[in-house]
Amino acid sequence: MAQVAPPRKTYDVCIVGSGAGGGMTAYALTKAGANVIMLEAGGLFYGSRDGKMMVPNYASPRRGASTKTRPFGEFDACDGGWEIEGEPYTVASGSRFLWWRARMLGGRTNHWGRISLRFGPDDFKRKSLDGIGDDWPIGYEDVAPYFDRVDRLIGIHGSKEGIRNEPDGIFHPPPAPRCYEYLVKKASLVKKASDKLKITCIPARRSVITQPLNGRAACHYCGQCNRGCATRSNFSSPDVLIAPAQATGNLTLLTNAMVREVIVGPDGRATGVSYVDKRTGEEMQIRAKVVVLAASALESSRILLNSRTPKYPNGLANSSGTVGKYITDTTGTDVAGYIPAMENHVTHNEDGAGGMHVYMPWWLNNKKLDFPRGYHIEVWGGLSAPGAGFGGGIQRYPSGGGYGKQLKDDYRRYYGATIGFSGRGEMIPNDDTYCEIDPNVVDRFGIPVLRFHWKWQDYELNQVRHMHQTFRALIDTMGGQVFSPMPTKEQDYNIATGGQIIHELGGTRMGNDPKTSVLNANCQAHDVKNLFVTDGGPFVSQADKNPTWTIMALAWRTSDYIADQMKRNAL
Ligand SMILES: Cc1cc2nc3c(=O)[nH]c(=O)nc-3n(C[C@H](O)[C@H](O)[C@H](O)COP(=O)(O)OP(=O)(O)OC[C@H]3O[C@@H](n4cnc5c(N)ncnc54)[C@H](O)[C@@H]3O)c2cc1C
Ligand code: SF4
Repeated sequence: MAQVAPPRKTYDVCIVGSGAGGGMTAYALTKAGANVIMLEAGGLFYGSRDGKMMVPNYASPRRGASTKTRPFGEFDACDGGWEIEGEPYTVASGSRFLWWRARMLGGRTNHWGRISLRFGPDDFKRKSLDGIGDDWPIGYEDVAPYFDRVDRLIGIHGSKEGIRNEPDGIFHPPPAPRCYEYLVKKASLVKKASDKLKITCIPARRSVITQPLNGRAACHYCGQCNRGCATRSNFSSPDVLIAPAQATGNLTLLTNAMVREVIVGPDGRATGVSYVDKRTGEEMQIRAKVVVLAASALESSRILLNSRTPKYPNGLANSSGTVGKYITDTTGTDVAGYIPAMENHVTHNEDGAGGMHVYMPWWLNNKKLDFPRGYHIEVWGGLSAPGAGFGGGIQRYPSGGGYGKQLKDDYRRYYGATIGFSGRGEMIPNDDTYCEIDPNVVDRFGIPVLRFHWKWQDYELNQVRHMHQTFRALIDTMGGQVFSPMPTKEQDYNIATGGQIIHELGGTRMGNDPKTSVLNANCQAHDVKNLFVTDGGPFVSQADKNPTWTIMALAWRTSDYIADQMKRNAL
């Protein structure tokens, strides 16, 4: 390590990363009175101040098309991407993996889909139920009070449904279905189809408030959540967690600070972190009594693996050799089709609350299936504001395409007649899927990078085949036409590449046994008692749910434990 400036002050807690996990930790610990410093690799951003909520796509000559640092569109709120200049990662031969990384205050919470699902009782105890993978060392009942707190603080819309493994929360009223979703929800074509297929269909659960909450205004249904919300009606870490943490006066925020490693004292306890100031290139250190990693699941593994000392030659908190292991991503595939009954729509405003208004949780019993676990279905379509690439592939519709008037008429005719289904399911950790330090590659700061190994098992492939069969049956029952042929086994049923669904979890999993896990049931490193992880790293299994609500509930639970232990001088 290069010569570094000595730290001037010792903080109570140093948090690395400011996304869902880091923001929640900063909120809870500053409110508990701790003196906290947060290090974030990216720059400052508050969606309410810096977002492009109301900029029409036509205001740009690029019509909102994506850029390299904004892969989800020119006006999307998140800086980052699949590739970041000067910050590579590598993929082992024979594997395919894509790693999406944010680099800004709030991380991916600036543009995430805000689908906010609680892991259910079964999701914590899967091994006990089907013998595969591992159980968590905690159960739903341990996290439930924190889910309630997250619901109350941040706000979420939804409906009480009483579904066992989709626990109800404390909900704001859900927005009404859009026209095509109405077809899903009520006496609709999709509803008929889903009834026939016996698929459960309920109002979506998203962290968008439909009533005023804690000084934030209710959603005004502009449909632009991914750009950042000027009225703070959706959840992003900077506006909803970090700003109130700053208001306590207990938070010091250091942006453009790329953490290299956790520093350890002679007694084996963490004493702080070292980081590169991205503006000057200088190597710096922060001293703290407690270190919390929340740099995103895989990045936290990277920091630990890079924290090598003679005492910890395989990286910090890694006596089990499991740092970087048991990593997963959500399985995914999509099917879209055209529904003749929705042609020549009366054009109307369907912007809504920025994402889907209806949701289909897992509805089947695995005993009759050739894969374990399950998936949920996200529905999309409708009349959102056109941008670059709008209506792309018009030739897929009957008589679609051509030139001039015919082309314009076809766009009008088919606008809003498309419906799509995305499956998002549970991957089971396997020994061939992990990350490690690539011994030959460093990033532009000289920090060794991660190398990924990835393998889907038949569990995931069979599940994705089932998604295709279901979505095709849905579109067929609606009298529609699917755009693409059924993919084959040789094509891996078009399963999304590992990492592509951007729900990566694990790498520092929790467990009761220090030989097989990195963290204990409080997300505290078995090996280093003043070191914690509060991103998706501690997850033992993936569930068929998007993970962020559970990341935040767990982060709050861990923060309460840290505050309690600090009071007792036990850290
Ligand atoms: C387009 C998109 C849609 C999504 N939709 C959903 C959804 O609907 N529902 C859902 O549950 N999840 C969704 N997700 C996933 C969700 O965003 C993540 O689960 C969540 O943000 C993870 O929180 P985190 O704190 O672990 O990481 P992040 O939010 O990524 O934050 C990590 C932060 O750490 C910083 N950092 C990284 N390395 C370092 C370092 N070395 N030093 C200092 N700082 C560092 C990063 O810059 C970043 O700001 C979506 C993600 C994307 C990209
Ligand atoms: S849809 Fe609602 S929550 Fe989303 S950006 Fe618009 S006002 Fe904000």
